[in-house]
Amino acid sequence: MTTTSGVSAFAEVNELVAQAGSVLNLKKGLVDAISACEREVTISIPLHRDSGIEVLTGYRVQHSSARGPRKGGIRFHQDVDIDEVRALASLMTWKTALIDVPFGGGKGGVAVDSTKLTPLEKEEVIRRWTRTLINVLGPNRDIPAPDLGTDAQTMAWLMDEFHRIEGFQPACVTGKPVGLFGAPGREEATGRGVAQITAATLQQNNKKVEGATVAIQGFGNVGRYAALVCQELGMKVIALSDMSGGIVDKKGIDIKAIFDVKSLADVKSDNRIGSAEVLEIECDVLIPAALGNVINDSNVDKIKAAFIVEGANQPIMTSADKKLRANKIVIVPDILANSGGVMGSYFEWTQNIQQFSWPKEKFRAELDVRMQTAFVNVNETAKKYKTDLRSAAFIVSVARVAEAFSVRGSLV
Ligand code: NAD
Repeated sequence: MTTTSGVSAFAEVNELVAQAGSVLNLKKGLVDAISACEREVTISIPLHRDSGIEVLTGYRVQHSSARGPRKGGIRFHQDVDIDEVRALASLMTWKTALIDVPFGGGKGGVAVDSTKLTPLEKEEVIRRWTRTLINVLGPNRDIPAPDLGTDAQTMAWLMDEFHRIEGFQPACVTGKPVGLFGAPGREEATGRGVAQITAATLQQNNKKVEGATVAIQGFGNVGRYAALVCQELGMKVIALSDMSGGIVDKKGIDIKAIFDVKSLADVKSDNRIGSAEVLEIECDVLIPAALGNVINDSNVDKIKAAFIVEGANQPIMTSADKKLRANKIVIVPDILANSGGVMGSYFEWTQNIQQFSWPKEKFRAELDVRMQTAFVNVNETAKKYKTDLRSAAFIVSVARVAEAFSVRGSLV
């Protein structure tokens, strides 16, 4: 996604990798090697619609396999392009390394407005995407998962298509429905992790969790569960928005009561706001959990939250990030804050391989402990290097990927 200011999202990630490499005294050649994408595949997807055949463009970018099979979601959104997929694939490499799971990084996408696809069309698109990319996918090669515009049902179709060609291997994709080799707990894992990290951040900064006010952009998989668990932990969600617009209630929105609505347009409210206005609400914690680049040069001066916990990937442009930090706003980076999703995917993958199933309580307990470990590690690294949380997270993960890449030998 080349941003409105012409900045490449992939270049922004690589800038963070280079900074970490410099702190760690890594040689330039090594930093270049671990920054580059291993493989990029662009495909065409002919889609049969009532109006005729429409040819969509799909992608799979495999950024790194240094620490294990590539892992990363598949996004259906009209703004998907190769630069965005590269950036997201690369973020997966740093995220999986940060939480220390045996995966590398990858990401996929199709440039299409998922809200305008019928269920049958969506099924056709994901089946074609899977068939065309079959040679680069698999439980030990590259394992997709849901992302923006895709969900458990999409993953079920993906798994079915994979099985038709390669035979039974449920570990070929994660984020599947529980009734089809999915893991109880995976669906909520990203949002649950975001909420747990929010609570830990408040405590770390000597703020009360009980009654802390939260505003969330996005009421899809991540935003919905983040809101629910924030409420369960005692926080007060005072503003929410999705594609249809937003709602505000200073007394606190009852998330349980509205959890199952299709869209926030279906929620009764006397105080409606625009989709982006939620970012400018006065609150303790802001959780962007929808799209990238939503906090940028045009609105950075209007942000009033004391803490920003990144539920979405790359919701803050680098230039805005610098300004926010200068204003003493604490930012918890995406590769830590939303890593509960890939942690949950790791649990699902291992269970599929072992043909064994954990109860939800065990899943939740393992997730909470491992998220806490990653949180402590990032905070201690920030202290050690006297730096911000994003730089600290990249120092941890770049060190791990660089080590794995190096010890594999010079002839790889
Ligand atoms: P989703 O498709 O389930 O939900 C997206 C939500 O964002 C919807 O409520 C949609 O209405 C809203 N939205 C879209 N455009 C908007 C706009 N302009 N303003 C306000 N809201 C808007 O997607 P998701 O899976 O919840 O993913 C959200 C973000 O979290 C993405 O950046 C994704 O990469 C990231 N993420 C997802 C996971 C996961 O496990 N699903 C894991 C890590 C990171």
